[in-house]
Amino acid sequence: MRKPLVVGNWKMHGELASARALALAVRHAEGHCVGVEIAVCPPFVHLGGVLEVLSGSEVASGAQSVCEFEGGAYTGEISAQMLRDLGVRYVIVGHSERRALFGESDAHVLAKLRQVQAVGLTPILCVGETLQERQADDTEKVLARQLEGVLDAPDAAALLADLVLAYEPVWAIGTGETATPQQAQAVHAFIRARVAGAGPLRAAALRVLYGGSVKPDNAPQLFAMPDIDGGLIGGAALKAADFIAICVAARARLGLA
Ligand code: PEP
Repeated sequence: MRKPLVVGNWKMHGELASARALALAVRHAEGHCVGVEIAVCPPFVHLGGVLEVLSGSEVASGAQSVCEFEGGAYTGEISAQMLRDLGVRYVIVGHSERRALFGESDAHVLAKLRQVQAVGLTPILCVGETLQERQADDTEKVLARQLEGVLDAPDAAALLADLVLAYEPVWAIGTGETATPQQAQAVHAFIRARVAGAGPLRAAALRVLYGGSVKPDNAPQLFAMPDIDGGLIGGAALKAADFIAICVAARARLGLA
């Protein structure tokens, strides 16, 4: 049984006080979400304050990105080791906003993923197609390309050993458009089948999250799908009640919600 995981991506929103208040609200609700793993990803500069609030709780923290290099003269960057020192557990890599707005290629994303794993943290690798690519019927081709750096690597088994994948159709991020549960399930099944080609046992255990306008009202249908192991949540993660409702909905995967 794959443990459901719900991750909140707070992006570049909020200030320290609101970040701490949001973390506190999530912490207070963790008793309603037993069996579901929860993580929140505040902006870098709020990680320390959020970690303090979450200290002693089961709610994990994640970072939204990381430097592709181990360390050195990289002005403005944050290394994986620095995140580990803080107490972060997860790091999002390859978010579509990083790819589209900051020019991150598949090669950059893979380098980041390796940095994260090298220090013992878990990368959440985001993949997903644009609307144009979906309309051209290229969804599987795009996803295969985004995954090939991991799946075709000589050390694919090691890369897959501690990894979370997130399918985030770009056209559904922050747009209010959501993939239907059936559309999302079809892609999740495709992803799992690709991973099975590199490691069948690992594919069965791998968590594949769905991200793209998940809200309390559509989460139950999405989480009812056999290959959707939780969610990567943007907008709704900024509202404590909505995020918590989504975490509670993920309990359905355990037969509990
Ligand atoms: C995201 O940015 O990862 C995301 C899924 O955002 P939203 O839930 O707002 O679509």
